Amino acid sequence: MLRSFINSLPYPIKQGAKYIYGAIPPRFRSSKVFWDTYNFLQESQWWSKDKLEEYQMQQLEKLLNHAYNNVSYYKKVFDERGLKPKDIQDFDDLKKLPYLTKEIIRDNLESLVAQNYPRSKLQYSTTGGSTGIPMGFYVEKNTTSAKEWAFMLTQWKRVGIRIRDKCIVLRGNIVQSASKGKFWEYNPVNKNLIFSSYHMTDETLPGYIAKIRKFRPDFIQAYPSAITILARFMKENNIKAFPKIKAILCGSENIYPWQRKLLEETFQCRVYSWYGHTEQVVLAGECEKNNYYHVFPEYGIVELIGKGDKTVTQENELGEIVATGFNNFACPFIRYRTMDLAVPTNTKCECGRNYTLLKSVEGRLQELIVTRDKRLITLTALIFAQHFEAFAQIKEMQLVQEKEGELIVKVVRTSQYSVNDEKEIFSKMQRAVSDGLDISFSYVSHIPRTKNGKYKFLIQKLPIKFGD
Ligand SMILES: [Zn+2]
Repeated sequence: MLRSFINSLPYPIKQGAKYIYGAIPPRFRSSKVFWDTYNFLQESQWWSKDKLEEYQMQQLEKLLNHAYNNVSYYKKVFDERGLKPKDIQDFDDLKKLPYLTKEIIRDNLESLVAQNYPRSKLQYSTTGGSTGIPMGFYVEKNTTSAKEWAFMLTQWKRVGIRIRDKCIVLRGNIVQSASKGKFWEYNPVNKNLIFSSYHMTDETLPGYIAKIRKFRPDFIQAYPSAITILARFMKENNIKAFPKIKAILCGSENIYPWQRKLLEETFQCRVYSWYGHTEQVVLAGECEKNNYYHVFPEYGIVELIGKGDKTVTQENELGEIVATGFNNFACPFIRYRTMDLAVPTNTKCECGRNYTLLKSVEGRLQELIVTRDKRLITLTALIFAQHFEAFAQIKEMQLVQEKEGELIVKVVRTSQYSVNDEKEIFSKMQRAVSDGLDISFSYVSHIPRTKNGKYKFLIQKLPIKFGD
């Protein structure tokens, strides 16, 4: 049936299609945009660096001409600077254009919409507001998301997703029957068993685990925070791994080194994570060979901008991800400040792709902590680069910053937690910030999730700026 379906499509399907077919959302299975993009990526991922850059410049030229001619916001941006699209001849020239910020988008949305796109071709989208700046924008209906899936599945193919594969999903979905005590629902179309991420407690988790064991999934798609709850419960109760799982596919939240370690130990398989956005200007994921994020050059142009607006080129330096996306001409994002930070590496990966690599995505700007003397501290430096004995005695934890130099540590304790654990957390954090914080503890029964079901490790209520 699959073969006859593929043969019936009016365009050629290239290598590997049968492997990913089961994972394609049904609405894109006969989308020409999806298959064109997917087929293209199967070849372009092996292109030389020069060829990829040439491709990027072609796409950029197309995007800039379109923006200048059809998008009033960009027409104004060019005119005010006395520029024409032809003045942007290389990646350096791109710096002649200003950044696009969330505030600009929020305040100028209508002038960012391309006039040659009828309303019926636009789809409204919003970001979750994790940065504190909620924002709405438009994408090309059926096109932007079809391309997105072609990229996503190209990534997932690296860990061996195949047609008959069964997946369990723990990604903040609302499960209707959960109020009646059934915390999962099966989607026969894509063979996904979707679990509620909102009802995972010591009482309900044995039921989740029994159901997963019976289902025998090949993959787990999860928010890192949700799968961590399951893994921690399994580890504490010495519950053995599920047989047959090939990988855990993690996205939409940062995955921290301790989470990766816990997941790989508990599930005895590879954790594969990717980094992307609702805004769809940048996408990066791990490969078959290592954990660095491989930035898709076919998706857009990514700049890493450090202090003083300088491009970050050194290994291990921290920069903000500024991206220009190729997949949305309805509402183009050019030099969009993502407010996410990343650390580059100049290593070349043995997988053979000539992609820019990020050693880590350090998290959102809103994941920095401000000390009394206004230093910005990453969560990695504060916590994740250190070893805390106390973490074994903690179920969940969340940091809250409301004032400079102050930090509230919210903890959901286990019964083994003691005053020594609090002392250890306090002193190691203080050492990391050279006593730059007043740290107080608050013991709570649970950590609430965001509207989208995501867990936030840090609630940063201060506005954070970087690079200015
Ligand atoms: Zn690689």
